[in-house]
Amino acid sequence: MTTSDFRKYAHQFADWMADYFENVERYPVVSQVKPGEIKSALPKAPPQKGESMDAIFNDFNRIILPGMTHWQSPNFFGYFPANNSMPSVLAEMLTATMGAQCMVWLSSPAAAELEEATMEWLKEMLGLPASFAGVIQDTASTSTLCAILTAREKKSGYEINSKGFSGKERFRVYCSEHAHSSIDKAVKIAGLGLENLVKIGVDADFAIRPDELEERIKSDIVEGKTPLCVVAALGTTSSTAIDPVRKIGQICDKYNVWLHVDGAYAGTALALPEMRWIADGLELADSFVFNPHKWMFTNFDCSAYFVKDPQSLIQTFTISPEYLKTSADDQVNNYRDWGIQLGRRFRALKLWFVIRSYGLEGIREKLRLHIGLAHKIKEWVLSDPRFELLAPVLLGTVCFRMTLPGLDEERINRLNEEFLNRVNNTGKAFLTHTKLNGKYTIRMSIGQTETREEHVVKAWELIVDEAQKIIYTIS
Ligand code: PLP
Repeated sequence: MTTSDFRKYAHQFADWMADYFENVERYPVVSQVKPGEIKSALPKAPPQKGESMDAIFNDFNRIILPGMTHWQSPNFFGYFPANNSMPSVLAEMLTATMGAQCMVWLSSPAAAELEEATMEWLKEMLGLPASFAGVIQDTASTSTLCAILTAREKKSGYEINSKGFSGKERFRVYCSEHAHSSIDKAVKIAGLGLENLVKIGVDADFAIRPDELEERIKSDIVEGKTPLCVVAALGTTSSTAIDPVRKIGQICDKYNVWLHVDGAYAGTALALPEMRWIADGLELADSFVFNPHKWMFTNFDCSAYFVKDPQSLIQTFTISPEYLKTSADDQVNNYRDWGIQLGRRFRALKLWFVIRSYGLEGIREKLRLHIGLAHKIKEWVLSDPRFELLAPVLLGTVCFRMTLPGLDEERINRLNEEFLNRVNNTGKAFLTHTKLNGKYTIRMSIGQTETREEHVVKAWELIVDEAQKIIYTIS
């Protein structure tokens, strides 16, 4: 491709991108294709000769686009958001063009120093403890794995890294039964064994019970096991429950246990001073993660990981082959030592663009809008006898179900599943589900960048309409 062709297609694609942002809500939110449909439309073998960009782009529109679920639709209410924004996408275009591999300071000084600066900004924006130092990881899963590996190494005097596990005590990790599956995965990968992940019961609001946590830690010590790490959830995935960080931190302090706080989704809400209460006690944590790629308008991937003692993180991961040494090593942050991977994308640029373009006020305005809309849905659920609220609404996510008096729980679950499928099959909105206390629970998570009241009103009308159809069929 010549630069003049590149210029031509870049302009064409920029138009496509702007059109996409303008028209994304016209697409069915969730892709309507069947399993295997996209693959069967693709040639089995790669082309021998290069093809024209017109042909490639044509196939993108014809084959790929119909197989996409549109996360940036303002009618996307599934999972947690993975919202992006135009400033973020513009930055990604520059990042991709420069194609820098930001493993050490020298391999792109601006990337390393902008990462340091944006992490400092995030600390201030979220009111995080001054003692934290931040690094950008790809995902919260990776950040949590880093936390567990660092806790393991610190506790073992960095010996497992050098000598392996032989003869080492059984390390125990604790989290609530509602904590995210990335903790199970991290415990597996860290070699601790899933049997050593202790799931603690929750209270009526689905937050961990600190009394039960302390009992389990005590009984583990009596049995000769070593409590290693507690992962507290700041916003569980199912219902956005908030574990009591201060109480957990005090327990961790007492028994010398690493406290990692997983605020993958909810952490962004700390940008709102009125929401900071959810993280009361965060200064007791050893590490904290939240994902700007969930609710801070920064496109995937961008996970902000903060640690109180960066030296223990670095000591866990550092490896210094001759070919990576530079003369600046003792003056700079080489982020290859702050995590698992060597090669790193320049993720700070998009975050910098987003924070500068929205400003703290712009970010706060959007968050308040989303949380306010979630509270509206909550009021509609509470005031309609056809629905039932299944968890407290604290942030942008509402958990509810259709009430069907006189039916047994199994049937109610099946009918709620059918109800959710009907809503999603319209293509007009997309919601997902979880189970709370055995009840099939519909989750409506409001957090796409352009979601406004009109989208939520329309989605609620659709929900009521589809619920009413189910109610007719059973009456
Ligand atoms: N932790 C929580 C509470 C989550 O809700 C999620 C994902 O939704 C994760 C961790 C995993 O995030 P990631 O996809 O960045 O690994």
